[in-house]
Amino acid sequence: MKEEVLKTAKDMLRKGLVEGTAGNISARMPDGSICITPSSVDYEAMTLEDICVIDVDGEQLEGERGASSEKLLHTAIYKAFDDVQSVIHSHPVYATMFAIARKPIPPCIDEFSIYVGGEVPVTEYAQSGTQNVGDNAVAVLANRGAALLANHGMVAVGPSPAKVLHITALVERSAKIVWGATALGEIHQLPEKVNQDFANIYTGYMRTAP
Ligand SMILES: [Zn+2]
Repeated sequence: MKEEVLKTAKDMLRKGLVEGTAGNISARMPDGSICITPSSVDYEAMTLEDICVIDVDGEQLEGERGASSEKLLHTAIYKAFDDVQSVIHSHPVYATMFAIARKPIPPCIDEFSIYVGGEVPVTEYAQSGTQNVGDNAVAVLANRGAALLANHGMVAVGPSPAKVLHITALVERSAKIVWGATALGEIHQLPEKVNQDFANIYTGYMRTAP
């Protein structure tokens, strides 16, 4: 699991979804503890030894480095949702634009809701690194694969680090497309039934599909 977290962290950097040491990735391990990327270590230089292990209260169990400064965001989500096995927090440019405007990303591309469950909501604002960031995210993630953290970035949840990275990239791509389409003119919504059908596939299958 640590190897998967490390590999996904490097993939996230390669895909341009974070820069330098920003953002963080975690996964729930079979014994209930959580492996998570460390604070202030460049993704390019990150090795397996840098990945930390914490418990669901954020207490460090393993690792020389300190766990990510946003560990309380991760632990709040694991405590609230038994079905979530991995969490990724990122700062991609277009999604963060929506987070600053505090506008949800509408599900206006076919099949988007299969992976995310519907529009990507915006949380209440909370200062980075505080428990409130986690509590605000929990409030909107019961039936969604991703949320925008007001004036900050994105958080995505799902069954594995690879799946959650896919959701993160999909939301960022959609934010970019919706932003561009808005510049062209009126945004057309999908029929409500289409989004609802796809959202049912998300809640019934995709949220937990291995
Ligand atoms: Zn952040």
